[in-house]
Amino acid sequence: KMGRKFFVGGNWKCVCLLLHFYLSAFSFPDLSIHVSNGTTEEVKKIVTTLNEAEVPSEDVVEVVVSPPFVFLPVVKNLLRPDFQIAAQNCWVRKGGAFTGEVSAEMLLNLGIPWVILGHSERRLILNESNEFVGDKVAYALSLGLKVIACVGETLEQRESGSTMAVVAAQTKAIAERITNWPNVVVAYEPVWAIGTGKVATPAQAQEVHFELRKWLKDNVSDEVATSTRIIYGGSVNGANCKELAAKPDVDGFLVGGASLKAEFIDIIKSAT
Ligand code: PEP
Repeated sequence: KMGRKFFVGGNWKCVCLLLHFYLSAFSFPDLSIHVSNGTTEEVKKIVTTLNEAEVPSEDVVEVVVSPPFVFLPVVKNLLRPDFQIAAQNCWVRKGGAFTGEVSAEMLLNLGIPWVILGHSERRLILNESNEFVGDKVAYALSLGLKVIACVGETLEQRESGSTMAVVAAQTKAIAERITNWPNVVVAYEPVWAIGTGKVATPAQAQEVHFELRKWLKDNVSDEVATSTRIIYGGSVNGANCKELAAKPDVDGFLVGGASLKAEFIDIIKSAT
């Protein structure tokens, strides 16, 4: 794909990891048996599974997992060196008196190279505006962090025909503030596909990825359009990843639910 290295991100979100494992294993959970277990143990289990996996080399696929903030140190200590780590968010500017926030400086200090910014759960639930996300991306990049920048439309927006206008506006707010595109991966994540089991068809994903790349060509540069990875997120799993990965403008995935399961390894393998 024009020299763009395949990229697979695992967004572990804020879920109860243990519950998630039980849900996937048995389809109905007995909540009472899980509450006494520590989730650090579950994080270690996931890391162990990843560490034991045979996957294509770093030259072929870039793998980045994103645990909640509190687990960043333990994952950093245990994770195989050919996989990288992303935080799920960071503060918009230099750290200071912002109780409850985690700054980009702190991520840097911990040795965390990547951060996910503009995830739809933050845009929609926490009301992060396009401009706020753009400011975050610019600040994180200015410190040397790499950014997985998420864009995507809601179901209503898709149904009203405004998909491209929405993702263009989200991308524009970022593009206006940055120049360091080599350190950015754009994640197209239609909101209606996130955590719903309702994956975009390969044609739907390709259509938006193609349009986004064209937007970059028209509004940034040829070079940025050709070299920037545009990855797809939204109910990607071991069964649907191959077909999506075959599309010319799909350069990888951002995976939520399935990134906590062994099938994440199959998704990594869809790089080849
Ligand atoms: C996500 O949270 O970025 C995501 C794509 O979630 P899921 O794979 O569970 O739809």
